[in-house]
Amino acid sequence: MILCDFHTHSNNSFDAENTVDEMCRAAVRQGLSAIAVTDHCEAPYIVYGDDCEFGSFDKQIPASLRDAQAAREKYRGELDVFCGMELGEPMHDPKQTERALQYGDFDFILASVHNLRGLDDFYYMDFSAVDLNEILCAYFDELLETASFPYFDSLSHLTYPLRYVYERTGSVPDLTPYLPRIEAIFQKLIQNKKALEINVSGLFKPMNTTLPPQELVSLFRRMGGQYVTIGTDAHRADMVGKGVKEGIAVAKKAGFTHYTLYQAHTPKLIPLD
Ligand SMILES: [Zn+2]
Ligand SMILES: [Zn+2]
Repeated sequence: MILCDFHTHSNNSFDAENTVDEMCRAAVRQGLSAIAVTDHCEAPYIVYGDDCEFGSFDKQIPASLRDAQAAREKYRGELDVFCGMELGEPMHDPKQTERALQYGDFDFILASVHNLRGLDDFYYMDFSAVDLNEILCAYFDELLETASFPYFDSLSHLTYPLRYVYERTGSVPDLTPYLPRIEAIFQKLIQNKKALEINVSGLFKPMNTTLPPQELVSLFRRMGGQYVTIGTDAHRADMVGKGVKEGIAVAKKAGFTHYTLYQAHTPKLIPLD
């Protein structure tokens, strides 16, 4: 079984602590064949530079690229290292998004939504004080908008808000009412030949499912989805590669025969066996 982790954060992300080298060393220890370094770049905040609460992306993303390129040379023959970026909320500021894409030569771009326009990250949301149905409709609508954005490879952690809904309320809502919206997102990904990420971080959280869960990965496949990437979203070296095998099992159960890694935005199919 070939194990690749296509979503990791180094200390060039505001919320992660290990160097790219430490992440790569952990990947080798875990028996991975490939890793993508996908540090955070929140498009709407690039403009604040050094005053940004997440640090200056103008410094951090070039540093992430440099570190990943150095690791690529150092680990050649042992581990394939790919340069990536997790582009947060690209649709909130198209101009800054364009600027983010100029930072350098990326292999792989994840697109993600952590917060709705004008609101904090779902992580901070008091779900008892909001209309959850309204929030989830807005979230899926924004993902549909994001799925039409041309400059990404894989749509990251779909159902992200549910992680926090579960942690605060002990349950998640039935997704049936949202299926038309989710199907529209999948339709757009398929039409634009984009991947859906199976983010395995949720397996180590109280909700104990991948993001998105099995039934949605299966739906993506039934609709004709061709590409899935698998990522741990590791923010620490000890989480690199953890759960990739479980992610592979989800992809297999959905009917996929391969998962995907990206080199210079070109999909390469990795057999699931
Ligand atoms: Zn994310
Ligand atoms: Zn992430």
